[in-house]
Amino acid sequence: MTSKTKTTSMILTTTTIALLAVMLTPIDVYANHTPWYGGPALTNSRADLYFHSSLNNLSIDGSTNQFAKAKSSTEAAMTTYTNIANSNLILATTSTYGTGKYVVYAGDLGFFGPSGEATYPNDPERYVRYNTQRSFGTTGGCSSFFGYTYAYNLQWLAHHELGHTSGLAHAQQSETSTMVPNCKSTWSTVQSHDSAVIALVY
Ligand SMILES: [Zn+2]
Repeated sequence: MTSKTKTTSMILTTTTIALLAVMLTPIDVYANHTPWYGGPALTNSRADLYFHSSLNNLSIDGSTNQFAKAKSSTEAAMTTYTNIANSNLILATTSTYGTGKYVVYAGDLGFFGPSGEATYPNDPERYVRYNTQRSFGTTGGCSSFFGYTYAYNLQWLAHHELGHTSGLAHAQQSETSTMVPNCKSTWSTVQSHDSAVIALVY
């Protein structure tokens, strides 16, 4: 072995040891995930949500005029976010609509549109909107509509939309997250990784 190869070999060995050290150090548990925090956080870690009477236009469990079900399904999801450990995030119901408040309402998002949508904290508009073109339920999970998978269970949809309200962007569809773009069983609750992201931000 010439002196030159010996030096190269030592450099390679040192590099390998350094690389191993980096690989073995738990720098960030989120390194293996696509980060799905999308923007600024809610001011004061809080969103006050007002439930609008248009929610009566939604079909829930087979009939319209189900304001109470729309509200309770959404509130159940709000509570899940508010109860996330080590987080100051609060999603609360307000009985009065006004400046700074969020409105939860029903609107026409199109026949082939999404089942719902919500604004990010940096959006001047503040809403969670459910599509009057879909049918929802207080049970069940995802449904198929012309080959497109959407949330039939309104609470599942609320888990996803309120993630956007809190500032979460979409996760990759393969993730165990309520923030995957297309409805799947992981929308059934706020998953542990979603909670971890919320706890980091709030
Ligand atoms: Zn989404």
